Amino acid sequence: MTKRHKIRLIKAREILDSRGNPTVKVYLKSDSVESSFSVPSGVSEGEYEALEIRDNGKRYFGKGVRRAVENINQIIAPRFKGENVTKQEKIDRMLIELDGTEQKSNLGANAILGVSIAVLKAAAQVRKLPLYNYIAKIFYKKQKNKILKLPQPSFLLIEGALHAGNKLQVQEFMIIPQIKSFQEKLRVASEIYHTLKIVLNGKYGSASTNVGYEGGFAPSLSRTEKALDLIMTAIKKAGYLSKIKIALDIAASTFYQKNSYKFEDKIFTGSGLLKYYFHLYNNYPIISLEDPFFEKDWEDFQLMTKSFKNKITIFGDDLLATNPKRIEKAGKLGACNGLLLKPDQIGTFSEAIDAASKAKENKWKIMVSHRSGDTCDTFISDFAVGIGADFIKSGAPARGERVAKYNRLLEIEEELSRGC
Ligand code: PEP
Ligand code: MG
Repeated sequence: MTKRHKIRLIKAREILDSRGNPTVKVYLKSDSVESSFSVPSGVSEGEYEALEIRDNGKRYFGKGVRRAVENINQIIAPRFKGENVTKQEKIDRMLIELDGTEQKSNLGANAILGVSIAVLKAAAQVRKLPLYNYIAKIFYKKQKNKILKLPQPSFLLIEGALHAGNKLQVQEFMIIPQIKSFQEKLRVASEIYHTLKIVLNGKYGSASTNVGYEGGFAPSLSRTEKALDLIMTAIKKAGYLSKIKIALDIAASTFYQKNSYKFEDKIFTGSGLLKYYFHLYNNYPIISLEDPFFEKDWEDFQLMTKSFKNKITIFGDDLLATNPKRIEKAGKLGACNGLLLKPDQIGTFSEAIDAASKAKENKWKIMVSHRSGDTCDTFISDFAVGIGADFIKSGAPARGERVAKYNRLLEIEEELSRGC
C-alpha cells in the first residue's frame, strides 16, 4: 500500500441539520487527500432503522450528538489510523464489529455512517475518479451490467403528516417529469412548483405557500384528493399535463392504529385502504406509492403488490429500512416491488450497496432518498448515479440542502454527456 492511501486523521464535530437539530460531520485526512461527510437524519423514522444516538439531557432538548462525536474521536479514530481508505469493505466490516450490535446502537449509526462515507469519498479522490464512478466500480463488481445513468428525479410539491403543520395525512406529494434530460426535468419541475405557488396564493392566500421540512408547500388542507387536484391544476396551467407522473409517500405507519388505519375521518381496514389506492390510481397519473401500509403489515403489502401487478411501483421505506435481510424477506413474500434506499437507515456504505444488489436481484425499482433533516452534502446524488438507481427524491426544487443534490446531478449529467 502506498502511504497516500493511509488514514492519518479522522475528526468529528457536531453541526446543525436543515431542521436546526444537531447532526454529525466527519472530516478525514490521508497523506494526499481530505474528505468530509455530514450525516442526514429523518423525522418519520421506521422502527427497523439503524439507530442514530443522541445525548438526551438538556442540551438541544436531548438531541445533541456529542456522544456520537466522542465515539468517533475517541474510539473509531485511533482504531482506524493507518487503515487503507480504498479497502471499503474491510473498513465497514471493522466498523460493524467494533460496534457489535444489530442496530448499531453502541457507537451509533450516525457515527458509523459518517466515517464510512468519508472513507469512500477519500478513496474516490485517491483513485482520481468522480465519486459516482468510484461507487459504480465497487457496485458493479457485484452486478454484471454496469450502467451509469441519471436517476429520474421525484420532486416534492406538497408536504403533510410529520413534515408539516397542516392536516394532510399523506407525507409527500411528488411529480416525476417524463422528459429526457435532467436539466429539462429540473426546469419543468421548478416551473410547476412556482405555478403551484401562484395557484395556492390565489385560492388560500400567501400563508398557504409556507413550506414543510423538505421545501414542499404546506397549505392548510386535510384531503389528499384536494392536494392532488391543486397539483394537477398547476401542472395544466404550466402547460405540462401530458409530461408529468405523480409519486406519493403515504408514510402509513403514522396513521395506523389497532389493526386499522385512521385516514381522513374514516377507519379503514387494509383492504379498504387498498381500494382507496386503486381509486387514486384510476383518477391521477400515479406511478408509485411509498409505504402504503404500516411497517409490520406484511399481509396488506403482499395483497397490494399482487393486486397492482407491477402497474405501479410500491416502495418499501419503513417496511424495509434499507436492511438486506428485510429486503430478502419482502422479495420472498412479494411484499413490494421497490426499495426506498436511505444509506443512513442501515449505517455503512457496504450494507447500502448490498441492499441495492438485493433489490436488483428481486428485479425491483430503486429510489435513493434524502432525509427530512438533511445537509448540503451531495453524496446521495453520486450514489444514485453510481448504483444506476431508477429514481431519486431530494425534496422540492427549492431550499439549499434540497437543490444541492439536484444541482450536483446537473454537473454529473454534463460530465456524462462529455463521456467522462
Ligand atoms: C421519508 O419518509 O421518505 C422521508 C424522507 O422522511 P424522513 O426523512 O422524515 O424519514
Ligand atoms: Mg418515506
